[in-house]
Formats: sequence, structure tokens, C-alpha cells
Amino acid sequence: MYIVGVMENLNKNDLERFKELLTEKYKSSLEELRYRERAAMENQRETGAELSSYANHPAEAASDYANLTMNLNLAERDSKYIKQLGDALRRIEKGTFGICTVCKEPIPILRLEAVPTTTKCLDCKNEIKRQEQEDAKRGGTEN
Ligand SMILES: [Zn+2]
Repeated sequence: MYIVGVMENLNKNDLERFKELLTEKYKSSLEELRYRERAAMENQRETGAELSSYANHPAEAASDYANLTMNLNLAERDSKYIKQLGDALRRIEKGTFGICTVCKEPIPILRLEAVPTTTKCLDCKNEIKRQEQEDAKRGGTEN
């Protein structure tokens, strides 16, 4: 039997394996995110409660604020990653997992092993990166 599309690249076992891997990452990232959000909230509460004492210790207040923003930044990065993992799992369900969204060619399995959430082959990704860098350069000369 001749199998077309994604099956040329990934067989059923590969897809099962990626599904397990992505589900596992999804769960652990979600737990980590919740933990960070809790930590960020507790940090904020403490900062509020001790605000009066910070009048004499501006350096401490600054470092607490840095902690808070760091936690929030990590939470934001994680939630983006979690969204990517969720998207990848949906692509497995739809049968579009492992297909480049730009050129519609199968993404090499080695690349998927390295970055299971990827939606583009390396050529398309590099091309987009190159364009972004050119845009950034143009933006840079204007400033
Ligand atoms: Zn491509």
C-alpha cells in the first residue's frame, strides 16, 4: 500500500511517540507554570505587606521587583511554549503534524526529534529568520 503525505515521513509509531512526548512536556510545563504563578503572586503579596519597610531599603525593593518580573517573564515564556505544545498535539490529531506550514513539505524527523513543536522545515525557518534580521537591520539604521 502506498501511503502519501505525513506518512511518508512519520509512521504511526512515530506519531504515537511524538504524541506521548508532547503530552508529557505539556503536563510538566503546565505544572511548572502554575508553580511560578503562585511564586510570583506570593512575592507580590510580600512586597505589598512590607512596602513601608522598603522606604529605608530601596535596594531590597528593587531586587524583589526584579524577582517578580523574572517570574512573570518565565511564566509568559512557558505559556507560549504550552500553547505551542497544545498546537502540536492538535496537529497530530488533524494529521498535519510534521508538515511545514510554509512549503507543505514533510519536516525531517530528526528536526522534529530536536524541536517537536516546530511548524516549519529548516529552510523555511532560516528564510524567515533572514527576513527578520533584514527588517531589524533596516529598523536599526532608522534609529
Ligand atoms: Zn518549508
